[in-house]
Amino acid sequence: MPKVLITGITGQDGSYLAEFLLKKNYSVFGLTRRTSTVNNERIKHIEDKIELIQGDLLDQSSLVEAINYTKPDEVYNLAAQSFVKTSWNQPVLTGEYTALGVTRILEAIRSVNPKIKFYQASSSEMFGKVTETPQKETTRFHPRSPYGVAKVYGHYLTQNYRESYDIFACSGILFNHESPRRGLEFVTRKISHAVARIKLGKQDKVELGDLRPKRDWGFAGDYVEAMWLMLQQEKAEDFVIATGENHSVEEFVTIAFETVGITDWKKHVVSNVEAHMRPAEVDYLIGDAGKARKELGWAPKTSFKQLVEMMVNADLELEKRNNK
Ligand code: NDP
Ligand code: GDP
Repeated sequence: MPKVLITGITGQDGSYLAEFLLKKNYSVFGLTRRTSTVNNERIKHIEDKIELIQGDLLDQSSLVEAINYTKPDEVYNLAAQSFVKTSWNQPVLTGEYTALGVTRILEAIRSVNPKIKFYQASSSEMFGKVTETPQKETTRFHPRSPYGVAKVYGHYLTQNYRESYDIFACSGILFNHESPRRGLEFVTRKISHAVARIKLGKQDKVELGDLRPKRDWGFAGDYVEAMWLMLQQEKAEDFVIATGENHSVEEFVTIAFETVGITDWKKHVVSNVEAHMRPAEVDYLIGDAGKARKELGWAPKTSFKQLVEMMVNADLELEKRNNK
């Protein structure tokens, strides 16, 4: 049975990847940090099939210990401070988790067993103010947030450990991917959750910022397969993972309200661009996953409309069960 250690297993991607690897008969270990309240909501349904190890990306010895104990064949580094807006409020912390955390985990691998295969969760935010459309593996980076800058560091460090120590280390440059398990602060989930509550009469309005930015939004469940495929190749390489189409926040809003039969969505949306303004914005992202399609045989399975409907319907179910 192959063994895997996933950092960030309590997050959106970690939970889907753990499910996916269990189905592939992996023995799954997850790194979790100590919190005063347990936050295993996303992995509750598989908790009896996986083993959780306490550790933190800030603590080198905990990472060495986790790798020594689990003896993994593969490590997926999904842990990060992952919310772009927070990265301006907590730029140093974002650098510690999202950038230096990659060094700590790679150092742990190098010192314990450099034969372990490594996946790094790179991001389309590295392209930021785009210099080429669509964006591919060779597109120049121009990050627009402390988060994006931290991800560039992690990306280059992963390449550097591949070149310096011959570690099988890959970066997946994943474009935005969402699901019913997406954090509530991200715009997609904020919308799907609010739309469900509006439909059920629990609230009347949702406040949003700029509706014009465009993202290449895919389904997280599809994207974790690409992570795994990267580590099954002969040679470690980096891949862009994207759907190849993009949509504005406004299109997401429109389809979300349509899903519950509301066509006149404007009376439910309060625009407060000022309050949601970021010091620097990423206006337009669209990925070219041609290399992944050709070399990994990977393609997204879920359309944009299916994704929006899936999220809204899941939030409707969630809110029907929730009395508040
Ligand atoms: P989430 O924010 O849902 O999950 C982040 C995970 O990291 C959580 O499990 C969190 O634990 C954990 N974590 C944070 N800090 C630490 C730390 N110091 N030590 C240990 N664990 C920590 O992110 P996603 O699942 O959406 O994303 C997974 C990865 O992919 C992230 O690195 C993200 O930046 C990257 N990415 C995501 C994209 C997306 O669209 N979703 C796009 C491109 C890249 P806790 O539950 O305790 O908070
Ligand atoms: P990001 O692509 O990782 O920054 O993901 P987000 O979901 O946080 O934001 C996507 C886009 O939606 C960005 O351009 C935001 O500025 C824009 N946006 C507009 N209104 C909101 C809002 O209310 N919340 C969030 N999170 N983003 C918003």
